[in-house]
Amino acid sequence: MRTWAEINLDNLSHNVSMIRELSGGKEILGVIKANAYGMGAVEYARELAECGVKILGVACYEEACELRAAGIEEDILIFGCIPPESVGTAIEKKFHLTINSMEEIDFLERNNYYPKVHIKVDTGMGRVGFTSEMALEAIDYIRENDIADLQGIYTHLSVADDPTEDVYTLEQMEKFRTFEGFEGIKYIHILNSCGSIRFGGKTYSTHVRPGILLQGIVPYDTDLQEKFKYVFELKTRILYIKRLEDEAYISYGKSYRGNEGDVIVTLPVGYADGFNRKFSNGGSVMIKGHRCPVVGKVCMDMTMVKIPRELVSQVGVGTEVTLIGKDIAAKAEEIGTIPYEIMTGVGRRVSRCYI
Ligand code: PLP
Repeated sequence: MRTWAEINLDNLSHNVSMIRELSGGKEILGVIKANAYGMGAVEYARELAECGVKILGVACYEEACELRAAGIEEDILIFGCIPPESVGTAIEKKFHLTINSMEEIDFLERNNYYPKVHIKVDTGMGRVGFTSEMALEAIDYIRENDIADLQGIYTHLSVADDPTEDVYTLEQMEKFRTFEGFEGIKYIHILNSCGSIRFGGKTYSTHVRPGILLQGIVPYDTDLQEKFKYVFELKTRILYIKRLEDEAYISYGKSYRGNEGDVIVTLPVGYADGFNRKFSNGGSVMIKGHRCPVVGKVCMDMTMVKIPRELVSQVGVGTEVTLIGKDIAAKAEEIGTIPYEIMTGVGRRVSRCYI
């Protein structure tokens, strides 16, 4: 295999148990949008269902359809707005729709649609949703006029990963207090990954709503990382080896010049696979426990790496290389991004191997 994402579903199941434990035993709404952060939504949905997760969250109608088409029967909440022409089918497929505005409620009423809905409250994320006051009015209106099957109410935290911003997070949760224990609502959910483990035991909600934590990544600096298991590693194998006979430039742009005697290997992975171009001249990969520097520019389909002297006798064409592993958070920081972007950027032609 050229380059592959190794995805450990046992670790996913371990992380589910850990989230339950650390969030005070709350139920989980498993966030598997963007193809489960690049790892395979259908496989994640099946594993989560095995673990007893009864509701899944996705970003859009198409993602929800993919899960239903694969036979996933759990509840599926769509976080984003869905195209008006798809609402009828969404109802047939029993999707849960997010309602963000009175216009959306009007639309349902005018068209005699009766979907399962979750009301979205904007308590400080500044993206979509009602204010708390408007949400109360919307809920009353829906109930009085029997416009939809009101299944849930939720909000989203914007800085739960930053303990120095806890005042803001607590304000967000305070704005949502009105909905605590709201009668007859099956799903009340606030907490993303960081929220789940930092505030799970202290906040009223029926469900937590983690995404990145399912992947075993705790997106802030804490010892709790040790309790989780990484699900994903990006791997490849050495494609080609050369010992430089003279000084020589490596890759596009002549940005790296190797010396006589250097051993340079070429890997069949590039930025089109999700190995970011910012790893050029500065990034690294792991080979047999040794950190090896990327030399020259990362190309679309290939990347060159220099082999340290002590490792030369141990590598050959076909030797396994870990491009991104447990160091994902550090790697993300190196190039000014977050693990989410690295994972969702794993390219289409990279095989997903479930172990
Ligand atoms: N809930 C909503 C509405 C989201 O958009 C996301 C992801 O961005 C999550 C939950 C999960 O967030 P995290 O992966 O940080 O747990």
